[in-house]
Amino acid sequence: MSQVVVFVGQVCNNDCIMCSVSVNKKRVASYEELERRLEKNRKNFDNVSFTGGEPTEHPDIIKLFKKANQLNYEGIKISTNGRRFADPEFTKKLVNLGLGSANVAIHGTKDEHNYIIQKNGYDQAIQGLKNLHENGVYTSVDSVLMKPNIEKLPKIWQQAAEMGVKSISIVELTPYGMEKSKYEKLIIPFVDKKNFFYDNLSCFEKFELVHVTNFVRCILPVSLPRNFHYVSYYTKQNRWSFDGLAAKNTEMLKEKIEVCNKCKYSDECFGFRVKRLDAFGEENIKKMMEIDNFLKE
Ligand code: SF4
Repeated sequence: MSQVVVFVGQVCNNDCIMCSVSVNKKRVASYEELERRLEKNRKNFDNVSFTGGEPTEHPDIIKLFKKANQLNYEGIKISTNGRRFADPEFTKKLVNLGLGSANVAIHGTKDEHNYIIQKNGYDQAIQGLKNLHENGVYTSVDSVLMKPNIEKLPKIWQQAAEMGVKSISIVELTPYGMEKSKYEKLIIPFVDKKNFFYDNLSCFEKFELVHVTNFVRCILPVSLPRNFHYVSYYTKQNRWSFDGLAAKNTEMLKEKIEVCNKCKYSDECFGFRVKRLDAFGEENIKKMMEIDNFLKE
C-alpha cells in the first residue's frame, strides 16, 4: 500500500529531550501549502500519514483532514503525542473525517514519560489512546528506545496490551539536531540494545505487530520473531515518500565499517553512524556481533 508522509511543520508544545523540533527554528506549513501537497500526492498515493512536530497542534488540522477526506485517500493516519485526543469531541471529529490509524508516542510509565517529554502529558496521552481505541481507530504505541526508559518500556507495553492495543513501535534514537554530549547521555550501548530485544521476546508476543524502526539490522535478533515488522532507513526509501519540511536524509551520516563487509545484510543497509559509532565505539559493535551470527553464507 503506497503511503505519503506529510510533515505539517515543526510545531509541538512538548519539549522532548531527544527531539530535534525544539532545537530547530520552528516553522509551520500553511494550510494552502499542505492542501497543494495533499492534492499533488493523491495521484500517486492511496494513503496519507500526517506527522510533525505534533500534527494536532497545526491550527488547520481539522481542515486538513476534511481535505484528505474529500480527496478520497483510502487510509488517513496520524503520528501524535496523543494529548489532544484526550478530548473526546476532537477525537470524534477526526474519526468522522476518516482517521483510521494513530501512532501514539508513549515513552514509558508516568515518571519516565513526563521526564522525557518535559511536560505532564502522560495522563492525556493515555486518555487519548483510550479515546482513539474506543472510537475504532487502529492504535500503536510508539516509543523511542533510550537510557531513561529501557527498564520501564515493558510495563507500558503490558498496560497497552491490557487496553487492547494490537501494535507497538520501537524507534531508534537519532542524533539529528542533538548535541553530542546530550546524545551520549541517552544512547544505549549496542550490546545492551541487542540484549533488550532478546530479554523481551515474551512481551512482544502480546502484539500482532511490533514495528522496529531505524535500527541497523544487526542490533535485532538474527531470526526475527514472526510479528516483527522491520523498517530501516534503507527499506523506507523504497516504500514511503516523504513530503515536507523535516524530510532529511540522515543517511548522510552513515558508513560501512569492516564488520559490514562480511555481514549478510550489507547490500540492504547504510551501515553505522561512523562519526559517533553510537558513542561506544567499534569494540562495542564487535561484542554485539558475537551474540548472533550475521556472517554471509
Ligand atoms: S551491514 Fe553493518 S550496520 Fe548493517 S546490519 Fe550488517 S553489520 Fe550491521
